[in-house]
Order: sequence, then structure tokens, then C-alpha cells
Amino acid sequence: MAVLPGSTLGILGGGQLGRMFVTAARTMGYEVIVLDPDSHSPAGSMATRHLAASYDDVAALDELARDCAVITTEFENIPATALRRLARSRPVHPSADALEITQNRIREKTFIQSLGLATAPFAALHSLDDLNALQAFEFPAIVKTATLGYDGKGQIVCHDLVEVRRALQQLDRECILEQFVDLEREVSVVLARGESGETACFPAAENRHANGILDVSLVPAGITPELEEAARQAAQRIAAGLDYCGVLAVEFFVSRTGELLVNEIAPRPHNSGHYTLDACFTSQFEQQVRMICGLPAGNCQCHTPVVMLNLLGDIWPQDAEPAWDQVLAVDHAHLHLYGKKEPRRGRKMGHINLLADSPGDALQGLERIRQFLQLGAAAKKT
Ligand code: AMP
Repeated sequence: MAVLPGSTLGILGGGQLGRMFVTAARTMGYEVIVLDPDSHSPAGSMATRHLAASYDDVAALDELARDCAVITTEFENIPATALRRLARSRPVHPSADALEITQNRIREKTFIQSLGLATAPFAALHSLDDLNALQAFEFPAIVKTATLGYDGKGQIVCHDLVEVRRALQQLDRECILEQFVDLEREVSVVLARGESGETACFPAAENRHANGILDVSLVPAGITPELEEAARQAAQRIAAGLDYCGVLAVEFFVSRTGELLVNEIAPRPHNSGHYTLDACFTSQFEQQVRMICGLPAGNCQCHTPVVMLNLLGDIWPQDAEPAWDQVLAVDHAHLHLYGKKEPRRGRKMGHINLLADSPGDALQGLERIRQFLQLGAAAKKT
């Protein structure tokens, strides 16, 4: 049965994704309770109620279960045990099982391959002993921590097994060794899937990173319709394989030889889907509300080309604000700030969506915005 507006929704995690989820839900007439240990979390201040407690606080979890009709999460590193406890009495989307697969790169990539989808060649590194079986591994390659890596953190590029050994010793935890892909570009697909399997896909975004962090997403992506369809089908296969309910994002590498490789699964709305807030008929956050509440998906189409620029703490002048007045004088520029007080280096503070008549115009307008923000030129394609 559908959970209708007027009901209370719960969310574990109070970052910017949670904040945009809360905004969408409250716009639609829901109440929202956020559970996040940070008493100043971006989502907490927008919520009906904020439970400032850790994710394994049994009393807080039980309060959430008591007061919410359905519960979701905004990030994958919530302990699966917390979701399982909530699921004893309430629907929880995504499921603990889905989250557990995406929490660990070894499980995630093994799962993707089990669906017949390609990833970059990789090997699991549980301990230094695993290096013995890797004499034929092709370099360069990247050692990545199996868990808790994001935005390029916990990654070391290596050129031989000696460097891999050093990287493993430095990271001192379970890792994977992944072959370096000669990237032509990176794309992602965000989709919304309901409990009975009906799926709606947003247009693919082309993503450009700087220092391992997403810098810009461009829609439409500069890929052929055939490649976009292949990416959509792969994302749908992954969502079906996880028996997924909610919004899910899949990141892909496109190699210079034209191969489509799955990089990562995000069991939640995704940074590369922020463009949907202004350029699509339905945002990824509204879709998340609709999916977890058992409502029909909204229309996923874009009504205009768009470029999204991530705003990191780096661009904040000392004790002042960036030149938002100049940015907002650019036609069809939309500013989203997440209410974070401290603009630290590398911290995601907000984003700008710039709508335009064509991707070329969007990128041109973006360069003006970058100048106002005293940012260097746009990141290269990959
Ligand atoms: P990840 O955390 O695995 O998504 O990596 C962050 C970014 O690092 C990716 O979006 C790529 O730009 C780059 N990267 C990660 N793995 C590879 C790889 N195997 N080959 C080339 N670039 C990579």
C-alpha cells in the first residue's frame, strides 16, 4: 500500500543528499525524521525532527521505527545491522542486503561480474600473501581500499608489485588492485526502481573529475545513443539483480577502445544526478520519495541541456562569500548551497546547475561562472 503525503518518512544520514531528499519530501507534504550524529547536519536543520545519535544507537533506531512509515538512507556506509533492526518493523529501502554489496569493492565488483557485466580487471587483496598470485597482472594499476573509499580517497596508483606491496602496507586494510583504464570519458546513469520492478532512467550524465572528486556533469553526455542504451540496460540489470527499491546510480568508464565498464554502484541519489533538480521534469530526490512510498515514478526526461558544477570549500575567500551576485547574473544559472558552515578544502558545499540551449553553450557559460568564482579552466574530459 502506498505511503501517502501526511505520513512521516525516516532517513539515516543527514548530509547534502539527505537535505535534498528532506526538501523534496516536505514539498510533497511529508514529515521527515533525520538520524545523524552531527547536531549541525545539513539535513537535520530542514527536517521535522533530528535525532542526533549514532547509527547503532538502539533507542534512536527504535524511535525512528516507531514514528516513521518507511525508512531510507542517504549513504552506503550505514551499518547493515541498523537497517536490519529497522526492517523488523518497517519497510526499509534500499535493503540491508543491497547496501552490504555496495559497501565493499570486492563484493560489489564480483556481483557486477556475476551479472555478465564488465568491470576493469581487478584482484582482491585480503593480505600480502595475495600478491604471489599476481605475477601476470598488468600495470599501471590502482590499489583501492575495499571499504570506506570515496572521492578518490584510499587510492594509490602503482607501476609494479613492489609498489603494490608498499601501498598495501600503507593502507593497512583489505584492498583491491584494479587495472588502470585508458579513459575516453566517464558517464553515469541514475534510475528509479519501484518495489514491483518498474524502472525509470534519467538521461546519462558525462562526468569530469578533478583530483578524484566530481567537478562537472554534462547532459546530454557526448556518447552515442547505442552506448547510452547499453549503460541504461546495465544499470537496470544491476538494480534488478539487487532487487532494488529506490534511486540508484551506476558509474561507468568508457575506455578509448570503446568498452563500457562498470566502475561503481551508489545505492542512493548521486552527485552526478543533481542536474535533475533544475533540468528534469522530476528530480532524483522526488523520485526517491516516490519509490520508497510505493508511488508511480515521475517523468525522467530532461527539458533542456544542462551542466552541473560542484562547489567545493576551496573557492570560499577568507571570511567572505564567493561572488554569487555575478554567478546569478548568468542566464539560467541555479545555485544550490547545502548549509555547511565551514568551507574546508575538498568539502562539497553546493553546486550550480546551468541550463542552456546546447551542451556547447552550457560549457561556454560554465567558463564565465568559473571566472567569477576564480576557478581554473574546466577539468579535462576524464
Ligand atoms: P572511484 O572512487 O573508484 O570511483 O575512483 C574515483 C575516480 O578515479 C574515478 O571516477 C576515475 O576518474 C578515477 N579512477 C578510478 N579507478 C580508475 C581506473 N581503474 N582507471 C582509470 N581511472 C580510474
